Amino acid sequence: MNLKFPFLRAAVLAAAVSLAAAGAQAGAPQQKTQVPGWFRTMVGDFEVTALFDGALGLDPAPLLKNTRPGEIGYQLRRAYVPGPKVQTSVNAFLVNTGTQLILVDTGAAQAFGPGMGHVIEYLKSAGYEPSQVDVVLLTHLHGDHAAGLLTADGQPAFPNAKVMLSAPEAAYWLDDAQKAKAPKEMQGFFDIAKAAAAPYQAAGRWQTFAPNAALFPGVQALATGHTPGHSSYVFESQGHKLVVLGDVIHFGAVQFPHPEAAVKFDSDSAAAIASRKHLFAQAAREGSLLAGAHLDFPGLGHVRAEGRGYAWVPLPYAPLPAGQ
Ligand SMILES: [Zn+2]
Repeated sequence: MNLKFPFLRAAVLAAAVSLAAAGAQAGAPQQKTQVPGWFRTMVGDFEVTALFDGALGLDPAPLLKNTRPGEIGYQLRRAYVPGPKVQTSVNAFLVNTGTQLILVDTGAAQAFGPGMGHVIEYLKSAGYEPSQVDVVLLTHLHGDHAAGLLTADGQPAFPNAKVMLSAPEAAYWLDDAQKAKAPKEMQGFFDIAKAAAAPYQAAGRWQTFAPNAALFPGVQALATGHTPGHSSYVFESQGHKLVVLGDVIHFGAVQFPHPEAAVKFDSDSAAAIASRKHLFAQAAREGSLLAGAHLDFPGLGHVRAEGRGYAWVPLPYAPLPAGQ
């Protein structure tokens, strides 16, 4: 017994030392950083990368119309979304078709404050350079989609890209007469659009198309309300379909169950509501993948018909096997 005692004593001491070490590890400082803001999936042969530009806190109560009293709060609680300000993501989507690198929307750059403007940073961490972008497709000319066309010093952020958007969208926002007619709080939007367009127009790299135009093999524009020439974009490869919605939806927690709820940023809310209902019904029927500019990052997922509206089913993280 006496012989065993020193051995036991050593074991107890060793355990105490390892417990103390475990305690020290538990005290490691928190990192307070997030993973880089990009997320990738395949749609047929097309490689799709969601890019996070940043997030804004927006209170949906004064911004949504066509809702019953209490409905917004009820839907936010049901979705575990703390209010009253709701985190509203700004996302852009990069599609490598194998022959072209196409960026849909460019983020807000510095137009909406310091928390935004991360598209270029995440495009780079996702493995690309801005100079490799062949085409920028704009869903519309609001600053949170178009201001990222410029660097901080006003140079084209995508030095080799052609910028494409629907003709009525460009005509509206680049028209000084429309600016003069617009409410005062909207006039800054015209200035942002004009500044973003200028260097691309000067370089002959600004191109408009007719609403609903077929743009490239497997790439089609869809006129979908919100602003005078707002376009969603359909990417189709090997029977798989992605619909990049743009601003068809802003507040997912409310507008999926209630697609009739309309945001005040719409120029024509009847057209925006009709587009939303039509696109969601079609996506639920066909099982196509949706991408939302303002849905929680990465903003990719499917819809399922539920009650009188829809439920959002976010796309899960999945590895992409090499060569897929
Ligand atoms: Zn927007």
